[in-house]
Amino acid sequence: MADFSIDPEFQDQLEWIREFVKENVESLDLAFAGVESTYDKSGLFYEEAIRPLQQIVKDRGIWSCHLTPEYGGQGYGQVRLAYMNEILGRSQFASTVFGTQAPDSGNAEIIAHYGTEEQKAKYLQPLLDGRISSCYSMTEPQGGADPGVFRTRAVRDGDQWVIDGEKWFSSSLRYASFLVVMCVTDPDVPIYKGMSMFLVPADSEGIEVVRNVGVGQEPEGHGSHAYVRYHSVRVPAENLLGGEGNAFNVAQTRLGGGRLHHAMRTVGAVARCLDMLCERALSRTTQGELLAKKQMTQEKVADAWMELQQFRLQVLYAAWKVDQVGGHAARREIAAVKVATPRVYREAVLRTIQLHGALGTSNEMPLAGMLMAAVTMGIADGPSEVHKITVARETLKEHSGIEGMWPSEHLVERRAAARAEHADLLERIAQDL
Ligand SMILES: Cc1cc2nc3c(=O)[nH]c(=O)nc-3n(C[C@H](O)[C@H](O)[C@H](O)COP(=O)(O)OP(=O)(O)OC[C@H]3O[C@@H](n4cnc5c(N)ncnc54)[C@H](O)[C@@H]3O)c2cc1C
Repeated sequence: MADFSIDPEFQDQLEWIREFVKENVESLDLAFAGVESTYDKSGLFYEEAIRPLQQIVKDRGIWSCHLTPEYGGQGYGQVRLAYMNEILGRSQFASTVFGTQAPDSGNAEIIAHYGTEEQKAKYLQPLLDGRISSCYSMTEPQGGADPGVFRTRAVRDGDQWVIDGEKWFSSSLRYASFLVVMCVTDPDVPIYKGMSMFLVPADSEGIEVVRNVGVGQEPEGHGSHAYVRYHSVRVPAENLLGGEGNAFNVAQTRLGGGRLHHAMRTVGAVARCLDMLCERALSRTTQGELLAKKQMTQEKVADAWMELQQFRLQVLYAAWKVDQVGGHAARREIAAVKVATPRVYREAVLRTIQLHGALGTSNEMPLAGMLMAAVTMGIADGPSEVHKITVARETLKEHSGIEGMWPSEHLVERRAAARAEHADLLERIAQDL
């Protein structure tokens, strides 16, 4: 039986987080969003606005809660993390303030899992302390959803690996101190066994950022998704993470929990859309009555509420399942959440834009930005189509086909069998007529 209950102590914690985000972090969203990057940890904004808030979170003992206690986390299960992320999702800078920002959170998990003690000291600790940023470099210009087309190679040369190739949409590379790069190490075996993961210091010789790509209407040159080339970049042999040919297992380490956290932050954003929708419906008058009086507005409000509830429960269920059986056994639930996230978010934003009219489309509301975020969620970390394949494959495993022409639910055969079973009673009823 799934259990999403919250004990009173944790409820207090959630209330504190809610209040803290509202009172201290949301004003940063308003003043600095689109102007400052939280990945730039050397800047004045980070130093003066972010760090003091991070310290409060650390003092409270809820910094980087997704990590195990060994690395300073709380050992919270996914259900608790889900409730936390639901609140963090209402604010753009909240994840940074709470030490759960992607891609650093996932990269930290990888190094914690596969890094040597030296690498943990050099990369993990400063990352956990919020002193440096990192980058995850996997997608290539010729394709991201199909690893079969990846060409970036790492070749062993004595006690080093030499990396050549190019990657696309390596987010936040411009601020990163190190990169986690996925490379082909054996082109002669199936791709899922031929790729390996490497830890690459950002100041390594041979890294060329061709350009930083922006999303949506970000001005040219202002984006943070790097198109990057690796020209014979050399790293020591020990920078191979998780063993040769093991890149996909390493990648899984960073993705399972991260997807749920993204989803639950989206629950928070979708709830914010519902708030905006209802407020507008109860404020705007047209043809002499509030929008809230119009049945087509009521339909929007009802759909918004129902979809939010369904989605929230779906994410909580997936989180609960991960807590029970682990991420691998819950891969269908995680993939399904990954598919639902952009879909629910997109619908919520579009509905809210519609009810706000021109204002909704303008740059005076957060909605246009939210729409782009919703769209990118259906592509980043694998497009929805690919995750649907996982959902379908896992579901089909639980079923089997049938011999012969007719489905097992075919009524003719089922009725014949049932009538044979009850033949005596059927005959007596007929005689009784
Ligand atoms: C905001 C953002 C941040 C990102 N950050 C990073 C990052 O930090 N590091 C990194 O390595 N990558 C990053 N990415 C890249 C992301 O992982 C890829 O965009 C994604 O894997 C899809 O690859 P692609 O863009 O090459 O699309 P393609 O692989 O070309 O796919 C394009 C479309 O084809 C369709 N399609 C693809 N495969 C199938 C299929 N099997 N069945 C049916 N239809 C299919 C889908 O509609 C898909 O959207 C980021 C992307 C975004 C948008």
